[in-house]
Amino acid sequence: MRCKICGAQLKKDGDICTNCYKAFQEEEELKKDVNERLKIKRKYSISYELVKYAWIFLIFILSSVICISTGGFLEELLVVLIFAVVLGGLLFFDKRIAMGTQVIFYEKKVVYTFDFLFIHKNKVVKYTDLRDVTYYQTLTQKRFGFGDLCIYAKGMFPGATLLNGFQIKNIENVKEVLAAIGELISIN
Ligand SMILES: [Zn+2]
Repeated sequence: MRCKICGAQLKKDGDICTNCYKAFQEEEELKKDVNERLKIKRKYSISYELVKYAWIFLIFILSSVICISTGGFLEELLVVLIFAVVLGGLLFFDKRIAMGTQVIFYEKKVVYTFDFLFIHKNKVVKYTDLRDVTYYQTLTQKRFGFGDLCIYAKGMFPGATLLNGFQIKNIENVKEVLAAIGELISIN
């Protein structure tokens, strides 16, 4: 007899080996863990977005100046139109991404969800499989108290720990959130 899941030779009668049975039990145990302890969402802030896209405004102003000095009304109209479409599109996508991204910390696991257009990602990491939790900030993010939260997990690929974990961008009050996460994880 061989294990139905991994194909290992079975010593006793049965369908699956003790290793696979253990993994199965652990998975079932994780499914029962439904008490939400901490929910984190990607922040969408219009003022942050506008600062982030300040370079687009700069290009807009420069092209407007060029258009006005060469005196083309239609060209100027085109510049305004392109600017509105580009900025509107970026803001719209950022808003949808923020709405579809969340991380929920439970008692024993953390679940990351990303839903955007046709992309659906879902990642579950047990606290015992976590390697590190940290954050990164750009200068603009720092001004707003935002940061990108990185959850590193142990996995098959050494050195690619973020591949096994995940990242969630633009977390509000990122320092406080990180402290809260540290407390949650250390209890378990
Ligand atoms: Zn097995």
